[in-house]
Amino acid sequence: MAATRPFHSGTIRSWFQLVDQRLHNRGFVPLFVFKNNTKSPKSTPYIKHSTIFARTYTEINSQVDKMHFEETENQMMIRQMIQDFAEKNIRPYMMQWDEEQIFPKDTMHALGEMGLLGVLVPENYGGSGFGYFEYVTAIVELAKIDSSLALSVAAHNSLCTGHILQFANEEQKQRWLPKLASGQWIGAWGLTEANTGSDAMRMRCVAKEDGDHYILNGSKNWITHGISGDVAVVLARTGDLLDSHGITAFVVERGTSGFRGGKKENKLGMRCSETAEMIFEDCRVPKANILGKVGEGFIQAMKVLDGGRISIAALGLGTAYGAYEAALKYSKEREQFGQPISNFQAIAFKLADMKMQIEAGELLTMEAAYLKNNGKPVTRVSAMAKYYTSEAAVKVSTEAIQVFGGYGYTKDFPVEKFYRDSKLCTIGEGTSEIQKLVIARSILKD
Ligand SMILES: Cc1cc2nc3c(=O)[nH]c(=O)nc-3n(C[C@H](O)[C@H](O)[C@H](O)COP(=O)(O)OP(=O)(O)OC[C@H]3O[C@@H](n4cnc5c(N)ncnc54)[C@H](O)[C@@H]3O)c2cc1C
Repeated sequence: MAATRPFHSGTIRSWFQLVDQRLHNRGFVPLFVFKNNTKSPKSTPYIKHSTIFARTYTEINSQVDKMHFEETENQMMIRQMIQDFAEKNIRPYMMQWDEEQIFPKDTMHALGEMGLLGVLVPENYGGSGFGYFEYVTAIVELAKIDSSLALSVAAHNSLCTGHILQFANEEQKQRWLPKLASGQWIGAWGLTEANTGSDAMRMRCVAKEDGDHYILNGSKNWITHGISGDVAVVLARTGDLLDSHGITAFVVERGTSGFRGGKKENKLGMRCSETAEMIFEDCRVPKANILGKVGEGFIQAMKVLDGGRISIAALGLGTAYGAYEAALKYSKEREQFGQPISNFQAIAFKLADMKMQIEAGELLTMEAAYLKNNGKPVTRVSAMAKYYTSEAAVKVSTEAIQVFGGYGYTKDFPVEKFYRDSKLCTIGEGTSEIQKLVIARSILKD
C-alpha cells in the first residue's frame, strides 16, 4: 500500500530557487566574495546554487550575535515544505506504521529526494549543503508530526552519513555520500552491542587483519535500520579490550558476504523506525572501507555522537512541541463545568510549564547548533541540550495526556504516541545519566 502513494513534488531545491531570487533581490552576495575579499561582488560571476546563499545568510546571522536565533528564510521554507509533505504523506499513514511496526522505506526515499537525507552534506556530494540550524529545523518539524520517522531521518543524517562525511577520504566520500544524501541508500551505524551500550569501549565485535581485508565477527544490537540499511558504519575491535585506540570504523555494504540483519525489536515507541540486530560472521571487508586510520574508530564515534546529540535534542524538541500544540488546542475546545478547561488555572499552568521547557530546550539546542556550525567545542552544550530536551519531551508529553484526560489515553488522539515516542530520547545516543557524566566531567575540568 505504502509503495503506491503519490508524493508531493516540491523539493528543497525548488523552494530555494525562490529563496535565491529573494536573497539576491535583498542584496545578499555569494559566499566566496566574503572569503576572497580581493574580488568585488560586481566582478564575481554570480553563483546560482541556493545553498551557497543559504550558508552565507546563516554565517552573517551567526557573526552578528551569538544568541540571535531568529528564524531564517531557509528555516521557514524547510518548515513549510515538511508540513506540506507530512500532511499528505505521513499523517494519514503514521498510526498504521506505528501499530504494525512498518518502516516506510519508500517515504524515506521520498524524503531523500527532497534533500532531507543529506541536509548537512555539501552540494558537490549531492547533499543540501545546509548547517545545523536548518538541520535542527528539519528534525523538529518532522518530529512534531511523527517522532518515529524523525528518528530514522536523524540517525541516517547524523550517524551513518555524518560519520562518513567527517572521517572518510575523498574517494570514499564520492562512493557513498551521493547515494546516502539522495536517499537512494539508507544508512545504519553500529556501535552498541548486547552487553555494551553506555560502556561501548568493552565491545566484543572483532575485526582481524587478513591481507587486503579485515574479517569481522560478532553482532551489533539496537541498530536503527539494522535490517533495511543499505550500508552501515560498523565500529569493531582491532586492538585490546578497553583500549580507546583499539577500535576501528568500517563501512560495510549490504550484500557483503557474512553480513546480515538479525532480530527486529518490538518497541514501546518509535515503532516505525526499524531497530534491529546486525550480524557479522566471517564478514570480509576491504581495507579500502576503513574510515580514517586503524584504531581511530572510538574517538571518531565520540565526535559523531557530539553532533548526533543535537539530532536527539531536536527530536525531543519536536516531540514536545507536537504534544504541547495538541494539548493547547484541545484545552481551548474541551469544556467541563460549562467552560473551556484552559480557563482552569491547573490546566493553564501545565501549558505554561510545557511552553517554558520547550523554549529553554530550544535555546540550548540552537546554541549547540551555533557552536557546531562555527567549529567550536560542542561536547558540553550538545550533552546539555540532549539531556534537557529529552527529559522535557517526556514531561511535556506526560502532561499533555493529563490535559486530554481519558481521551489522551486512547489512540484516537496523538498524545499517547508522543508519550511513547518521547522516552527513547532519554536513552538513544547516550542515556540521560551518561549526559550528566559528560557535563560533570566537562565542568570539573574548567
Ligand atoms: C530505538 C533505539 C535506537 C537505537 N539506535 C542505535 C543505533 O542506530 N546505533 C547504535 O549503535 N545504538 C543504537 N541504540 C542503542 C542506544 O544508544 C543504547 O541503548 C544506549 O546507549 C544505552 O545503552 P544500553 O541500552 O545498553 O543501556 P545500559 O548502558 O545497559 O544502561 C542501563 C542503565 O544504566 C545506566 N548507566 C550505565 N552506565 C552508567 C554510569 N556509568 N553511570 C550512571 N548510570 C549508568 C544507564 O543510564 C541506564 O539507565 C538505539 C537504542 C534504541 C532504544
